[in-house]
Amino acid sequence: MTTDVVQANELHKIDPVFGQLSFDNHEQIVFCNDKDTGLKAIIGIHNTVLGPALGGTRMWNYNSEWDAVNDVLRLSRGMTFKSAITGLNLGGGKAVIMGDSKTQKTPELMLKFGEFVHSLGGRYITAEDVGMATSDMDLVRTVTPYVTGISEEKGGAGNPSPITAYGVFMGMKAAAKYKFGSDLLEDKVVYVEGIGNVGESLVEHLTNEGAKVVIADINQSRLEEVRDRYSVEIYRGKDLHEEQMDIYAPCALGATINDTSINKLKAKIIAGAANNQLENEISHGKMLQAKGIAYAPDFLINAGGIINVYAELENYGKQEIIRKTENIYNTTLEIFSKADSLGLTTHQAAMAIARSRIKARKAENK
Ligand code: NAD
Repeated sequence: MTTDVVQANELHKIDPVFGQLSFDNHEQIVFCNDKDTGLKAIIGIHNTVLGPALGGTRMWNYNSEWDAVNDVLRLSRGMTFKSAITGLNLGGGKAVIMGDSKTQKTPELMLKFGEFVHSLGGRYITAEDVGMATSDMDLVRTVTPYVTGISEEKGGAGNPSPITAYGVFMGMKAAAKYKFGSDLLEDKVVYVEGIGNVGESLVEHLTNEGAKVVIADINQSRLEEVRDRYSVEIYRGKDLHEEQMDIYAPCALGATINDTSINKLKAKIIAGAANNQLENEISHGKMLQAKGIAYAPDFLINAGGIINVYAELENYGKQEIIRKTENIYNTTLEIFSKADSLGLTTHQAAMAIARSRIKARKAENK
């Protein structure tokens, strides 16, 4: 029997949803299928104790349906704790659409997806994520009110990515204050992995402050575009994790912090936008702690986007968005201090604060 066959057999023994590694008492998981438009989507509602489950929609060409289920479970769970630690009255949810956003995302498919979101009656509110644009959310808005991340012309708070990047920048500065004693990033060597919507905006903040920025992306033309706009260097090597740097900023996809990368990492700080950076929240958090790498928890410092879309539900303006996003600096410092005093990893310390808020609200609601 080949290894592949063994693995396939093993997979069939696992319950496909409740048995998934990432399943964490999710309240509801909705599979959406429409033959005419080719829509295959999954909506994960993790927890609605603090409010409706809000989280973006990701369109990605998954290798398998298993990968898509796993991703939506991990991402929706992450949203619960992100909103909780940020102090927002929102639960955690997320949606994934299986397919290539460049070739398979049609208006019909997006409208059908919007109808599925609408059918949940507001338990889930969507927004943009990887593979989505503000214009897609405007389209979804024509069939359901349960969508945020609408363009400013249509009365929304606009593209959340610049605010996400600003929050990441705040979290990175707090990590620098903790690790280096100063939050000034001038002359610090920062590797930004993934220079999409958030990554590019982060590069702008970093270069404005005089950091020495190196950019990496799988998209060559994107690298050249960003290099032409800012004073940055393009990474030409094979494995950036082993390079000498002060700060590693993962801004592409998750799970880049794992056994292999941690063993090579020379960075003193990890602070980036990508969701679910730690492949294993417990063991990889502990490995970073043992190596003395200051890890600014992803779900804390990338909350600018959710703060931005929350403004659409709560009707607050740009000033309040900026104030709440700048507060990420204080919360990050608080997390480093709590982790040190309790001997926890920063991820554990952040989770403890988020969980206690949910627990308190649950008790109040009884
Ligand atoms: P994006 O799709 O605009 O950019 C992602 C970039 O990463 C692209 O340029 C892509 O080519 C690059 N990339 C993909 N795989 C890569 C790899 N293996 N190595 C190097 N580069 C790679 O996405 P975005 O909106 O900038 O979001 C980036 C990350 O931040 C995602 O993980 C997203 O979930 C997270 N995030 C985004 C927001 C937001 O407001 N957009 C909010 C919170 C979290």
